Amino acid sequence: MKKVFLITLCLSILSILQAQKTYIWCGTLIDGISNEPKKAMTIVVEKNKIVSVENGYSNPGTNNQTIDLKTKTVTPGWIDMHVHMEHETNPNRYMENFTYNPADYAYLSVKFSEVTLMTGFTTVRDLGGTGVNISLRNAINKGIIKGPRVYTAGKSIATTGGHADPTNGFRADLMGDPGPANAVANGADECRQAVRQRYKEGSDVIKITATGGVLSVAKSSSNPQFTEEEIKAIVETAKDYGFRVAVHAHGAEGMKRAVRAGVNSIEHGTNMDDEAIALLKQYGTWYVPTLTAGAAVADSAKKLGYYPELVTPKALEIGPKIKATFAKAYKAGVKIAFGTDAGVYKHGMNWLEFSHMIEAGMPAMEAIKSATINAADLLGEKDKLGSIEVGKLADIVAVDGDPLKDAKFFGKVIFVMKDGVVYKK
Ligand SMILES: [Zn+2]
Repeated sequence: MKKVFLITLCLSILSILQAQKTYIWCGTLIDGISNEPKKAMTIVVEKNKIVSVENGYSNPGTNNQTIDLKTKTVTPGWIDMHVHMEHETNPNRYMENFTYNPADYAYLSVKFSEVTLMTGFTTVRDLGGTGVNISLRNAINKGIIKGPRVYTAGKSIATTGGHADPTNGFRADLMGDPGPANAVANGADECRQAVRQRYKEGSDVIKITATGGVLSVAKSSSNPQFTEEEIKAIVETAKDYGFRVAVHAHGAEGMKRAVRAGVNSIEHGTNMDDEAIALLKQYGTWYVPTLTAGAAVADSAKKLGYYPELVTPKALEIGPKIKATFAKAYKAGVKIAFGTDAGVYKHGMNWLEFSHMIEAGMPAMEAIKSATINAADLLGEKDKLGSIEVGKLADIVAVDGDPLKDAKFFGKVIFVMKDGVVYKK
């Protein structure tokens, strides 16, 4: 009898605890939807969801807790659509391909995940690594380590010698002949197989490198590297498995093939010409600019010996161009989602992208939307993420100042909640 009473008592205490709500008092609220910031608002969170958004500072009553952000600006948690959580730029990066085991990447990714979350990014899309990024996502989802919600591509798919071929620049006997299992695919059949392999491994999204790139040990930064037929095979197969397709592209020809094949986003987009801009608009394809990476690779390339010989001239050429491309695409009305290529520069500095976008002519409010509701749209998660609205997951950040007046406040995150859990206060 006594035992039954104790169990009932425990259960009722548990239900009171579960019913507890959090009242977040917001001095200024930017909700991701409205173009006007709202003053003196309250967000009510229960478990991992937003259950109410109220005018004024609501009384929490008993049993509920309050978080006072009356002097802060509150926004939805930020989403970076282009990161690499397994590594970070350094002068020995190319040597690490030969010395690092998966465990080394795993330990590093734990550190990078935490710094990313603590600087306001509650969701990221990892666009390519060794596959450790899939285990990383799982560890974060299970609550084993702290990090943003991760949507991962696993390995990025390339053609032989293409930008994401993992053996570029290796000694001949070490190159081997990587195939679809290692995300190197040639011809429509292998392309389909490469997508199916990503499904088997547990990827969330497909990433392909449709043109050359800056940091691969290969000659061209911009040549087309997939045929249109191959990209179509990838897109069709991706659809069968519920994947969206993100495409690395600097060169205009590869970009156009990808857009016509029906991909979801173009990453970097450096040499986008007028025809490419028109195609992106026509197909409703998203553009993810990665301005921070452009600036960072151009800077690093000026340091003697930082990159291999083949990489330095590409970094000097491509890096400084992206910002002007972004300005042009934005003015033309291309849909833009926020993405930085973190890992190509130091993790935790993702917020610099806001400054670059604003400098290039995008109003701060639109830059915030690109990192919230627009990014959620590109992820296919608009019903769960990207705004402070009833029913959405409680991903909420606050900065110590007005980021609409001064972009430096994006770098002053003082509060982070992800999935209803407070990580920084
Ligand atoms: Zn990248």
